[in-house]
Amino acid sequence: MTKRSWAEPWKIKMVEPIAMTSRSERDTAIAEAGYNTFLLRSDDVYIDLLTDSGTSAMSDHQWAGLMVGDEAYAGSRSFHHLTEAVRDIYGYEELIPTHQGRGAEHILSQILIEPGDVIPGNMYFTTTKFHQEYAGGTFVDVIIDEAHDPSSDHPFKGNVDLAKLQGVIDAYGAARIPYVSVETNVNMAGGQPMSMANLRATFELCSRHGILVMLDATRALENAWFIKQREAGYETRSVAEILAEICSYSDGATVSSKKDNLVNIGGFLALRDPVLAQEARALLVAFEGLHTYGGMSGRDMEALARGIREMVATDDHVAARVGQVEYLGNNLIKAGVPVVHPIGGHGVFLDARSIMSHIPQSEFPAQALAAAIYLDSGVRSMERGVVSAGRDPETGDHHYPQLELVRLTIPRRVYTQAHMDVVTESVFEVFQHREAIGGLRFTYEPEKLRFFQARFEPVQPWEF
Ligand SMILES: *Cc1c(COP(=O)(O)O)cnc(C)c1O
Repeated sequence: MTKRSWAEPWKIKMVEPIAMTSRSERDTAIAEAGYNTFLLRSDDVYIDLLTDSGTSAMSDHQWAGLMVGDEAYAGSRSFHHLTEAVRDIYGYEELIPTHQGRGAEHILSQILIEPGDVIPGNMYFTTTKFHQEYAGGTFVDVIIDEAHDPSSDHPFKGNVDLAKLQGVIDAYGAARIPYVSVETNVNMAGGQPMSMANLRATFELCSRHGILVMLDATRALENAWFIKQREAGYETRSVAEILAEICSYSDGATVSSKKDNLVNIGGFLALRDPVLAQEARALLVAFEGLHTYGGMSGRDMEALARGIREMVATDDHVAARVGQVEYLGNNLIKAGVPVVHPIGGHGVFLDARSIMSHIPQSEFPAQALAAAIYLDSGVRSMERGVVSAGRDPETGDHHYPQLELVRLTIPRRVYTQAHMDVVTESVFEVFQHREAIGGLRFTYEPEKLRFFQARFEPVQPWEF
């Protein structure tokens, strides 16, 4: 049998040079960055897998959209294009544009959450949870247990545990639950999808109790792809149809357009209820901008409208996007490196708890592993573990999440498979010398969302 490979459904029209640095340059750079990859200068990075947020490459059609964007302060044509794109592809009538996802989370949390409320969700996301707490609410995790087990091969690790959700409703009462926050392709679980059956059942359970379902639909496209691959009955449906069905089981959504939507900045809150949308717009003018631009320029909205249509124009885009992530993941699995199973939609998540088992979680094993990978090759990754989880506001102790991960996140349409080979080789090299990597301690710890700006130093000098 002859092998038939797949390839990216695009060709390259413009390039941006990148260059490898020397080990001594990287030694200096990581020390100056306080061992936090967020604080590195991108000029000191070779292959940047910090995040897939806002790092996608736009198409020629999107770039052309920048030129014809309408910068009218009010009533911009590009706003109407965006509204139509969201209606056609996601199916929500009411669009509230924001500067990025957290802008939408802020507005949604402020209009729906009262102090003392409880918001169940399928695993926390950093900014989502922050805004729920900032509005006086408490997040309660109702994801299935398999999501916390990096070795579980459950095909839908993003699923809501309906018994846990029912338990939260019984314990607090529906009146204290303004909505259930349902994330598609759960980021912190490793880019893991939920099934359509589970989403439908969640929506039905909530409807029976008069509780709204608000999607974090930031990664709904990648979730739709996994449903097509893994859920019976969806094999022959297009991702566009599956995405529309996902959204049909919700009352609204927050979206960071810096992910699926193929733009560098932007986001939106989408709702069905026009009354709720009016409340959101009243806050929007205070925090983001007028209701027809929110936090975006006209050209940003034009490129976004085009990106939303482009992402589902054929299934080829998402097939190649997730295919590249799986390519890297499978190469690392073949090399024997412990990673989260199954490979997720937007990145490969190294199981730092297992790789760095010689370092206690209080010395930030994933943070140390991310720094070591940078030292080896200039590849930039990100910690998703105890540093990201923050402290319990009541006790002041660290949250100790079961998942202690390093995320290698793949920007969309930016790197080739050859870059993925370089990354595989570097991670394998670090894995082989992991005993030489030591723990870290804080030299500066911000109070909120600490992982962005925290600084560290080795507890003992590293032999690495
Ligand atoms: C990125 C992200 C957000 C936050 O969006 P920003 O645009 O970074 O503010 C929220 N939820 C999920 C799942 C995300 O991946």
